[in-house]
Amino acid sequence: MQDIYSDPTFQMACDQFELVAEYLEVPHDLHDQLMYPKRSIVVSVPVRMDDGSTRLFQGYRVQHTLSMGPTKGGTRFGPTVTIGEVAALAMWMSWKCALAGLPYGGAKGGVYVDPRSLSGNELERLSRRYMQEMIPFIGPHIDIMGPDMGTNEQVMAWFMDTYSAYAGHSVPEIVTGKPVSLGGIHGRREATGRGIVYLVERAANLLKLKLSDGTAVIQGFGNVGGVTAHGLAYKNGMKIIGISDISGAYYNDNGIDIRAAANHAVTNGDLKGFAGAEPIPLENLLTLPCDVLVPAAVSGVITRENAGKIRCRLLAEGANGPTTVEAAKILFERWNELFVIPDILCNAGGVIVSYFEWIQSLQSFFWNETEVADRLFRALEQSFSAMIRRAKEEKIPHRLAALAIGVERVMKARKARGLFP
Ligand code: GLU
Repeated sequence: MQDIYSDPTFQMACDQFELVAEYLEVPHDLHDQLMYPKRSIVVSVPVRMDDGSTRLFQGYRVQHTLSMGPTKGGTRFGPTVTIGEVAALAMWMSWKCALAGLPYGGAKGGVYVDPRSLSGNELERLSRRYMQEMIPFIGPHIDIMGPDMGTNEQVMAWFMDTYSAYAGHSVPEIVTGKPVSLGGIHGRREATGRGIVYLVERAANLLKLKLSDGTAVIQGFGNVGGVTAHGLAYKNGMKIIGISDISGAYYNDNGIDIRAAANHAVTNGDLKGFAGAEPIPLENLLTLPCDVLVPAAVSGVITRENAGKIRCRLLAEGANGPTTVEAAKILFERWNELFVIPDILCNAGGVIVSYFEWIQSLQSFFWNETEVADRLFRALEQSFSAMIRRAKEEKIPHRLAALAIGVERVMKARKARGLFP
């Protein structure tokens, strides 16, 4: 194979897959078919800027597995986006959806852009043009987009409107994570964080760890990290001693007032200058002694260098791919002092509720927030128990157990369908 995906994040996803494939003894002829994306689309996205000039952005969409049904995954706007990163994220979506029992293959999309550098109007034009370029390749039964880093409900609304204008009627089922006023589901914005909090509670219960006396550190204060911090602090009475965002990391031994921090971030755009905590070097955040550590920002932050220094009882991976393959090995050697909830389980709440939203939009039958949360917890409970059971029975790390369940399900479907999909 030519290496068009060459990228450290894609390499990491492949290395991880290799370990699982070896463990499951995936037949040679299936190995590459399961690992490489089925389809990758690269588009040029010309956008008229506010000053009258035109800028060309590069946009991607990777549809990783077509054997399970339509593909599903978020769209990321970010300054690190490459086709390789998007391919890695799409691969992880395949295993994540399969572990959660959703009838989807994985996908992911992205645009190489710093969304903070665009005006509101420029962001709208970029979002609409990206969707326009993708129309030939997606559809409510082909590939359904959702939010990811750098995109939000408003971007999903522009996606949905652009697609609907092309179709000639409203097509809410083309995206998830849209505003409730357009057929979005109650609780989608909170879903990923809510799922993380549920799994932390579940694991703490298993470990007999009392959360109300405990401390937590959360990397990332966006949609995922922010909601998680809120749930751990106000639902479980935890002391959140460390948080971070794009402006840096912040620490307060007595616990950070999460509502005040969130208000500061909304008013000022980020946490810079927040008086309720003192700035600390970013690299010190993840090694702060605490009970629960939640990396909820970017991939590859827990590495060979810092994995041995992590001082938490419970690691809840809110981000996609926060732990490198070498770091995962080190964490597993510390299994009796460090309980890991791996990313493809830990952050699955987002895509699970996206699945509910897709069904809601297809059927025009609306659910309330309690129904959404109950079903979300039931879905996570099933995946969590399946992972724990498998890890115990086969004496393997949680991550390997979760990935093995996901990869095995995709492999089964693929074998049953044959070479065609
Ligand atoms: N971006 C989310 C994830 O990484 C979910 C995307 C979606 O809802 O489709 O899991």
